[in-house]
Amino acid sequence: MTNEAAACRACGSPMTPFMRFGRMPVANAFVTEDQFAREYFYELAAALCAPCGMFQIVDHPDPAQMFHDSYAFFTRTSKGMVAHFRTYAEWVAERFLKKPDAFVVEVGCNDGALIENFATGGLRHLGIEPSANVAAVANRHGVRTRVAFFDPETARAVRASDGPADAIVAANVICHIPNIRGVAEGVATLLAPHGVFAFEEPYLGAMIAKASYDQIYDEHVFIFSARAVAAVFAPFGLELIDTVPQATHGGSMRYVLGRKGAHSVSPSVARTLAEEGRQGLHLAATYDEFRRRCERNRDELVGLIRDLRRQGQRVVGYAATSKSTTVLNYCGLGPHDIEFISDTTPLKQGKFTPGSHIPVRSPEAFADPYPGFAVLFGWNHETEILGKEKAFAAAGGRWIKFVPEVRLS
Ligand SMILES: [Zn+2]
Repeated sequence: MTNEAAACRACGSPMTPFMRFGRMPVANAFVTEDQFAREYFYELAAALCAPCGMFQIVDHPDPAQMFHDSYAFFTRTSKGMVAHFRTYAEWVAERFLKKPDAFVVEVGCNDGALIENFATGGLRHLGIEPSANVAAVANRHGVRTRVAFFDPETARAVRASDGPADAIVAANVICHIPNIRGVAEGVATLLAPHGVFAFEEPYLGAMIAKASYDQIYDEHVFIFSARAVAAVFAPFGLELIDTVPQATHGGSMRYVLGRKGAHSVSPSVARTLAEEGRQGLHLAATYDEFRRRCERNRDELVGLIRDLRRQGQRVVGYAATSKSTTVLNYCGLGPHDIEFISDTTPLKQGKFTPGSHIPVRSPEAFADPYPGFAVLFGWNHETEILGKEKAFAAAGGRWIKFVPEVRLS
């Protein structure tokens, strides 16, 4: 990658990155030792498109490198997310899926944790998911799936076979799709006249407020704001009719869109847009300050861990998340700094973290015996994790947290 301007994926305007993270592997590509030599890397850099407000990474790996038959992320591994999706599904169903033959489609249904709530309610449904292994898990939970990327062609095929959708839902997946205009065209193709498109994603306002730069990795091609979402869907006849802040993933936003004029627009849309203006999400200076905070955070985290190691302390990581790939590679942390990372996902255990090559072990290894210090990489599930790991603190263990600041607790 060079310093040359790239084109905004949403509106085509030229834009220049304000921050570079260096060479990055695919965030979820956990590797075995024999794969170290042929790991895939790309340059991770972030930019804001000034005209439309879309925050995006400049370069990204080929989606086929990321969403494939051994995709290592399963939504069901988080009890908190499973509960959240039940509430989200009820919210959508109560407002938008009242008619008896209503049809709901989920874009990127993963293992079915969201759409199964509609399926078990007997609603006509379809989950679209490009990773065959996770879609197979959704099938086992009674979810009807189609293994495909969501694009205008898929949207036309679904409309032809099942009719228009009364609701299209998604969670933490629309920001994964580089061709965001293709998503907008697909939604415009598939949606019934009074249908809605509801999706929730990590929110730019929350990321900037917390300097949680670990939201930035290959799968998160975009970090959305209300302003950017409204701008990218408008040319396809879709308008933003509601915004609902969510606590998930360290601060998310639920966006609801409908065909222009088909629904009344909630006052929350104007409120959210005004708040984004007050926060300066449209200003270059905001992102310069964000970059400085990230650099400081990196230096403090590395300093703290290496001080502890010099004192002979054991430091491990907790939760080998996609987010942790950005932190570990941006900070240059490796197995000499962090002994291993414990994670509940069997697919990751026995492998190594992408790029940084820290071993991933089972949760049993975490307690055998407890280390002095554990880096809380799953900070967005802090309540769930700290509740589950009371014995670690009771044994004198301390958490190393780094969002929004580096600190011990
Ligand atoms: Zn743009």
